[in-house]
Amino acid sequence: MIRVAIDGPAGAGKSSIAKAVAKNLGFVYIDTGAMYRAAAVYALENGIEIVADAFSNEILNKIKIDIEYDDDGQRILLCGRDVSERIREADASIGASDIATIPAVRLKLVELQRRLAEKSSVIMDGRDIGTYVLPDAEVKIFLTASVDERARRRFAELEKKGMAADFEKVKKDIEYRDKNDSEREFAPLKMADDAVLVDTSDMTIDEVIERITEIIKGAE
Ligand code: C5P
Repeated sequence: MIRVAIDGPAGAGKSSIAKAVAKNLGFVYIDTGAMYRAAAVYALENGIEIVADAFSNEILNKIKIDIEYDDDGQRILLCGRDVSERIREADASIGASDIATIPAVRLKLVELQRRLAEKSSVIMDGRDIGTYVLPDAEVKIFLTASVDERARRRFAELEKKGMAADFEKVKKDIEYRDKNDSEREFAPLKMADDAVLVDTSDMTIDEVIERITEIIKGAE
């Protein structure tokens, strides 16, 4: 079994790349960001302020997150409801970054992530996979790109989905999350010492997929 950890900042292309590479290699793709997003949607919908004190065990136990797989890939269920589209909205992005600073929430989600990685070869993407969730992963990749390029890609992705967006706001949201994710105390966004750095600013998606596939094959 091979475990591949892909970490990096928002909009670096982690999920599209991880999804494609997992499909090529027959690995299971696990999008951990979707879990933080789903937890944020729970808070937003239930009027829970995103501060550490608000997440007692009682509340945490009510947040039921499940992952299902179909032909399109991963679907994320929040208390039995499919929230795969809802979690992509801007309030869920910012909420996820805020909720991800709360240790009790992280511990709950990390437990689920580790359990999923026990079953088969996986590609897991996030911020702390190589440093915290799967420190013994066979392959670790740190995927990054310039802020402008990441904002351009995220903007294009939202437009394609028909979700109206303003470029400057998309860029500001990315900068906000970069700062939040790398400055938080518990399991911050950080490249693992043994990760391979891949800067995708000047690469096409296909080039990145090829490069990552090569790195993984080299480890098999
Ligand atoms: O990757 P994605 O943009 O969907 O992640 C949403 C947010 O969830 C990130 O900005 C980050 O704060 C948080 N996250 C995290 N650790 C992970 C995955 C995501 O803190 N492993």
